Amino acid sequence: MFEQGVIRPPSEASSLLVRVTRNCPWNRCHICPAYKGKKFSRRTVEEVKHDIDEMKKEYASFSDRFTSAFLQDADSLILPTEELVEIIEYIKKVFPNIERITTYARAKSMKRKNVEAYKHLKEAGLNRIHTGMESGSRNVLKLIAKGNQPEDILAGGKQVKESGISLSEYIMPGVGGKAFSREHALETARILNEIRPDFIRVRTFAVHPMSPIQKMVDAGTFVPLSDEEVVKEIRLLLENLDEMPTHFRCGDFSLNLLMQVDGMLNTHKQAMIEEIDRYLALTKEQKQAYSLIQRTYPGMRSLDVLQDQRLMEGLRGDIETLEKNEPDGFNKHIRRLMTYQLPQPQTDCWE
Ligand code: SF4
Repeated sequence: MFEQGVIRPPSEASSLLVRVTRNCPWNRCHICPAYKGKKFSRRTVEEVKHDIDEMKKEYASFSDRFTSAFLQDADSLILPTEELVEIIEYIKKVFPNIERITTYARAKSMKRKNVEAYKHLKEAGLNRIHTGMESGSRNVLKLIAKGNQPEDILAGGKQVKESGISLSEYIMPGVGGKAFSREHALETARILNEIRPDFIRVRTFAVHPMSPIQKMVDAGTFVPLSDEEVVKEIRLLLENLDEMPTHFRCGDFSLNLLMQVDGMLNTHKQAMIEEIDRYLALTKEQKQAYSLIQRTYPGMRSLDVLQDQRLMEGLRGDIETLEKNEPDGFNKHIRRLMTYQLPQPQTDCWE
């Protein structure tokens, strides 16, 4: 028997999952259901090694197929560097074909380790760190109770980059609502231009019905963006990002309306902006139809789908009904559909 956590990045779908801590040491973000109701705890190196041995037995017939491993759960870098090095070296000893080892980390923990520590981790075999910055705006970080300041994100990210470890920064368009949309885009671009991560992974915000943000929506203190407003926010962000060797990724997350906006900033920035402009130039009805298709059947889909007149005919009636049913009925329906794609908390409580 061995333990496994509940989430990992999409790019780690076929990785060996090695749980080095349980849950999240912060666990207060208003946007995140993943570990709510669950307590954080560290695991000893011996416990983790025991799990690695168990996995070797469990996966005996195909263990040589594992070429990557992911360290769970939310913030592995909270562990002392020596412990992580020992775990990473043991993974490579027991699964000798593993070439890539990656992990999640919080900005505060990333900041606490220095470049020497990262170099040590890199030598042992840690190749990439995934981190959810969400926003570069101080106001937005406070709004969602992220527990990090822009300075933490900046310092942590720059140290990782300096060591040569690959860095994935996750950002959340729409998470500042209408009040902070512009500031969120501009401040996020500013911080990312300084860090120059290898990946910017776009994670469009959807309000979880159990979250404190939903209570703010009900009270009228948080006004969510429509699909079109989120796309405009992403355009502003992109426009302000440098043409650097960074992969701007919408294609690996189905809550992104325009998943096809995906490419390297140093070679595809203009093409990505043009695709956004193509969407923004659609009529209101075409935009609503595209939202309805994408939110009902999420996936990578060209705007050319709107050329299908029979499809448009069918959707026209649905859109009219939704708009008649209640004020802002169409956008409310879209937001409801989006919640179905969110992960659910492991417990009934959001604490
Ligand atoms: S978003 Fe990250 S830091 Fe925040 S509660 Fe979730 S796992 Fe923890």
